[in-house]
Amino acid sequence: MALRVSRHPLVQHKLGLLRRQDTPPWVFRRLVHELTMLLIYEATDDLALRSETIATPLEPTDVKILSQRIGFAPILRAGLGMVEAALEMLPTADVRHLGMYRDHVTLSPIEYYQRLTGPPRADVYLILDPMLATGQSAVHAIELLERWGVSIVKFVGLIGSPEGADCVRAAFPNVDVHLAALDRQLNENGYIMPGLGDAGDRQFGTTS
Ligand code: URA
Repeated sequence: MALRVSRHPLVQHKLGLLRRQDTPPWVFRRLVHELTMLLIYEATDDLALRSETIATPLEPTDVKILSQRIGFAPILRAGLGMVEAALEMLPTADVRHLGMYRDHVTLSPIEYYQRLTGPPRADVYLILDPMLATGQSAVHAIELLERWGVSIVKFVGLIGSPEGADCVRAAFPNVDVHLAALDRQLNENGYIMPGLGDAGDRQFGTTS
């Protein structure tokens, strides 16, 4: 697994605003949106291109166009806040929601929704989940996508833990993980420290 933690100043600045406990949900959602756009930009820097000759108003010229089809797999609920931003970058992408919640005792993912029907409509799927905590949801999502027939999967998140990164690396050494920050550790409840709290609750103003 290649772990890429963004060093972009805009990413670091916006992440600092996101972490603040007094950031209200509407600002939090806006920041998740902006950070997702920046991280998608970084996570797609190795997509394949092909040449095509097109007509400009003045003369024909060769241009580059993406030769791989892209899909997004947001993990519900917190990944929802990343979908619109990802689609702003790649409006024709396929979107497959994956519903999972964490069992509070075992911290294992419980799958409650997925619609991986028909053959995959993209060559590369980017899993969207703000928090890479234990890594078990990410691993489960990668398993689902690979079993469905996807050959290239990447993970795009905002904050990860060393434990989560190790978990993905051990299970899927070929999956790239893109983050805005790799934090210190998980606490006993499976929260990332220092983190930002519960990314779903902070986006939607609910309490855990
Ligand atoms: N999920 C979150 O929303 N926050 C964490 O810190 C860990 C998992």
